[in-house]
Amino acid sequence: MDILLLEDNAALHANLVEQLEGAGHRVNLAVDGETGLNLALSQPHDVLVLDLGLPRLDGLDVCRRLRERRGREPLILMLTARDTLEDKLEGFAAGADDYLVKPFAVAELLVRLEALARRSTPKHREVLVVEDLRYDVGEYRVERGGAPVVLNRVGMRILRELMLASPRVVTREQLEAVLWDGFSPEGSVLRSHIYALRRAVDGAGLVPLVHTVRGVGYRLAREAGA
Ligand code: CA
Repeated sequence: MDILLLEDNAALHANLVEQLEGAGHRVNLAVDGETGLNLALSQPHDVLVLDLGLPRLDGLDVCRRLRERRGREPLILMLTARDTLEDKLEGFAAGADDYLVKPFAVAELLVRLEALARRSTPKHREVLVVEDLRYDVGEYRVERGGAPVVLNRVGMRILRELMLASPRVVTREQLEAVLWDGFSPEGSVLRSHIYALRRAVDGAGLVPLVHTVRGVGYRLAREAGA
């Protein structure tokens, strides 16, 4: 695939370019945020591998501006040394699709990139509806009561599973199997995604649809009496 790598650490980007190209990918490299954003806006890439701490324009700003201008393309995988829940939420809120904490094995980066690309291609047209929530899977479009709901790709994958199962519960294990082929990257990542999904779907004044079933998983439905 066509990869745009934004990483200012010379030792790290030299190693990444060598190994990604060795695995058969085409890699463009930028070492500051502004150059990287311009490259991302002017040339098509399948995925952007984005360091957070970058000179001239921070990785989060690159992510936000790219999402504003180019919508859901390209996929964005963030690289960072920060690994608190707050940092992850901020990354996903800015529009990242996945997240890898440094230091990481390049083999894991490769697996994540391939899984990301595979999951992002829906196989057929599908429109899901639960209450006033509507998800056009092929168009990557989610609406609640006709108003757009902004989600990253992982959020959309979770939403699809919850809507397909609704009103039944989807277990954490089932979600992890779908999202990460059963291997969960870090304990709190699924929770972070659910948190972001709930904030996006259940806005102020709306009947809550996303529910946690403690110790089991999650369900998407209107609760009796709500
Ligand atoms: Ca950096």
